[in-house]
Amino acid sequence: MSLRSFLKAMEKRGEVVHVKDKVSPVFEISAIMRHIPGSPVIFFDKVEGYDVRVVGNVCATRERLCLALETEPENLHRKIIEAMNKPETPKIVSDSPVKEVVEEPDLSKIPILKHFKRDAGPYITSAIVSARSPDGTIENVSVHRLLVLDKKRMAIRLVPRHLFKLWKMAKEAGEDLDIAIAIGVHPAVLLAAASSPPFGISEYGVANRLLKGNLALIECEKVEAYAPAEAEIILEGRISHLKETQEGPFVDVTGAYDARRPQPIIEVVNVMRRKDYIYQALLPGGPEHMLLMGLPREAAIYEAVSKVVPRVKAVNLSLGGCGWLHAFISIEKQSDGDAKNALLAAFAAHPSLKHAVVVDDDVDVFNPEEVEWAIATRFQAGEDLLIIPNARGSTLDPSADMATGLTTKVGVDATRPLKVPREKFEKAKIPLNEKTKKIIEKIRLELSGNRN
Ligand code: MN
Repeated sequence: MSLRSFLKAMEKRGEVVHVKDKVSPVFEISAIMRHIPGSPVIFFDKVEGYDVRVVGNVCATRERLCLALETEPENLHRKIIEAMNKPETPKIVSDSPVKEVVEEPDLSKIPILKHFKRDAGPYITSAIVSARSPDGTIENVSVHRLLVLDKKRMAIRLVPRHLFKLWKMAKEAGEDLDIAIAIGVHPAVLLAAASSPPFGISEYGVANRLLKGNLALIECEKVEAYAPAEAEIILEGRISHLKETQEGPFVDVTGAYDARRPQPIIEVVNVMRRKDYIYQALLPGGPEHMLLMGLPREAAIYEAVSKVVPRVKAVNLSLGGCGWLHAFISIEKQSDGDAKNALLAAFAAHPSLKHAVVVDDDVDVFNPEEVEWAIATRFQAGEDLLIIPNARGSTLDPSADMATGLTTKVGVDATRPLKVPREKFEKAKIPLNEKTKKIIEKIRLELSGNRN
């Protein structure tokens, strides 16, 4: 259950393209990732200045994440919820391919990308960071952007969540926090690290459950932390409890520049890697970033809304809403207040959520035009609009107060009122028989033939 085993499977399915031209990690790889349509997995076989291959876009589509989790799209959220509710402690092994090379850290030897014009420097964006509490009882695994400062030091953005909490605990004890930074892990591990089960539950347990008990960890050599045994490369380090530096600018999930802030410094003390390791790139603000961040929150919304309405059909944190700020939720409602309760539950389940639209189950939440159609035909702002000013939202939204995270949340109930006959809101259908279907198919083929 490694990144490379997954890549092999994707290669077989024709989901992978190889870039054989020599490309630079400064702007060139990120530009190619951004401009190739359809989000295939992209392998950069030759990277200027390095003899390391770079792979990008690994989890850039919902379909590939379903393949990684061996699940159907309609069961995806339930699978994530189940793994969060029933984590399984992974086994610890002593031998691993990631120990093929153990060396002194030199970050300049790793093809870390510079993504955007005003970025403060090269950033590691696909790494999972794990740490334990000083007494060893609590473990956390999460994804953080890491700004390379020099050969041995990086700055880490610590949003006040779980790793921040562990770092505070170490700081209060007057110690640095030991961490393992793993790059190039199976998509299920990356997704688990992006999820946020309650503090005290290790995301490794969630990953292991998603992988049906097939996750193995190894103990780091110089720090007290654990990393996936199948990772491509592991950086062992310590987050300083004293030293800080300005971190940013950096483009985050909104595609806009996040603010610069003083953030703690990591000292890297050891590197373990596979001899021919693959460096995993992740384009900030790209669909992969949105999906990995958004999917666990979609699952949380799905679960919370399921508790207040008879049935949730689907939840989509839309790509247009950065996979983070906009939720489209389809429900089957029983009474007219259901959609409003669904909105309240969604805002509570995902505190960064800014705008949410609830639609009936005949509307496809993965089709933004259909959602807009529902707003156009089933929504009356006078009674269906919910406005919550000064609520806690995302600090990543440039229109919100980026220091306090205060924002205005808007909920839209675009479900049809039950008191009005259903036919009034029906999407009109045209009868379609087999003969007509064949004619349509023929025209379609002719059209695509003309294009080729
Ligand atoms: Mn956590």
